[in-house]
Amino acid sequence: MSERQKKDLVIIGGGPAGLTAAIYAARAGMEPVVINGPEPGGQITTTDELENFPGFPKGIGGFEYMQKVTSQAERFGAELVYEVVENVNFDDKPYIIDTDFSSYEAESVIIATGAEPKKLGLEKEDKFRGSGVSYCATCDGAFYKGDEIAVVGGGNVALEEADYLTQFGSKVYLIHRRSEFRGTEILSDRVKNNDKIEILWNNEVTEILGDDELSGIVVENNKTGERKELTDVEGFFIAIGYDPRTELFENDIVLNEKRYIVTNEKQETNKEGIYAAGDVQDPDYRQVITSAAAGAKAAMEANQYITSLKGDSVYV
Ligand code: NDP
Repeated sequence: MSERQKKDLVIIGGGPAGLTAAIYAARAGMEPVVINGPEPGGQITTTDELENFPGFPKGIGGFEYMQKVTSQAERFGAELVYEVVENVNFDDKPYIIDTDFSSYEAESVIIATGAEPKKLGLEKEDKFRGSGVSYCATCDGAFYKGDEIAVVGGGNVALEEADYLTQFGSKVYLIHRRSEFRGTEILSDRVKNNDKIEILWNNEVTEILGDDELSGIVVENNKTGERKELTDVEGFFIAIGYDPRTELFENDIVLNEKRYIVTNEKQETNKEGIYAAGDVQDPDYRQVITSAAAGAKAAMEANQYITSLKGDSVYV
């Protein structure tokens, strides 16, 4: 491993929160390093169309949007590295961040590691991931042209995905465990008015069928007990919410009961000089704009913190 690199600010995570923090910090002259992790650009890169971000009246693709944000961060001098953080030591300062390639010590850290899709916990769910089971409609939908597809969940993501998948599938089942959706009215109406979608209310997926790849699913009505095998389903999309990526930090940073990082209104965590921004600390909004805003706040706070340590005129 190369010699440990000294930084004023290390940003862990390169989604909208991390990269917006990088833009602000780099523009203030802090020369931050952004450790991009296993999914550069974050979840938004797998979003087909970002329709509600101000300034893009016709929408913009998620991947294209993150390319723009990345080049903006680099233009101001942020250093982006594509490494995976394996261990952190936040006991005392400087804080230590070890990756698979390198090691960093930092006076301040912004945690922006985001969240990952929740699993149903069914047998074969992991085994068939990539061969019938997916957590991302925009990534995998096109594999199921002309096939029957099933989506499970009743929140906005499931509604958006079911609607999106009708452009590929011959039919899309939307399986929800209750008799009303959690998602917004506009998306619920879109789904209810789409002839290619059949909604299975009060249903739960109890089994994934197949030997080497998915060859159907079993659903059970939780009111009547009726059990159905949907053996024509070739693509099964799970959209039941997210878990924050906080495992690395659980020994040092205070998490809430759902394992999200607890921050105050300044994005501060319980550790001096350590901030968190985006989906890793926000279970409610989960929007690009709210994550970006939290990233900007975290960077401004980190800037003030480092300035207070080093004196007034370290940064512009
Ligand atoms: P949500 O938490 O909103 O919804 C999760 C859904 O999955 C719920 O309907 C829930 O059922 C169901 N569910 C959870 N666990 C299980 C399980 N074990 N078995 C079966 N069903 C289960 O998550 P989303 O991922 O849909 O959305 C996350 C956030 O992102 C939300 O705040 C959402 O509003 C936001 N978002 C906003 C968008 C927009 O504004 N355009 C677009 C996409 C996301 P139940 O309802 O019974 O609890």
